[in-house]
Amino acid sequence: MTDEQDKNKVASEKIGAFVDEEICIGCTLCTQICPNVFTMTDEGKSRATNPTGDSQDKIQQAIDSCPVSCIKFKKI
Ligand code: SF4
Repeated sequence: MTDEQDKNKVASEKIGAFVDEEICIGCTLCTQICPNVFTMTDEGKSRATNPTGDSQDKIQQAIDSCPVSCIKFKKI
């Protein structure tokens, strides 16, 4: 693969939010910052039901705000 193809591949890869529900303490902060991405489950955990629903800046804000650091970006 050429460098140019490599760059195009990276550009076309999408990243979105992911929550490790085992660690989430259900504080709801992320759902307030990114209501289009995160939804609270019946178990009181956050889930990234729409991983690309808000801008990456907003998702980064949620990542930075999570008290137990259980939100990450992942390739989707
Ligand atoms: S901010 Fe973190 S701990 Fe709080 S609900 Fe979202 S994922 Fe869970």
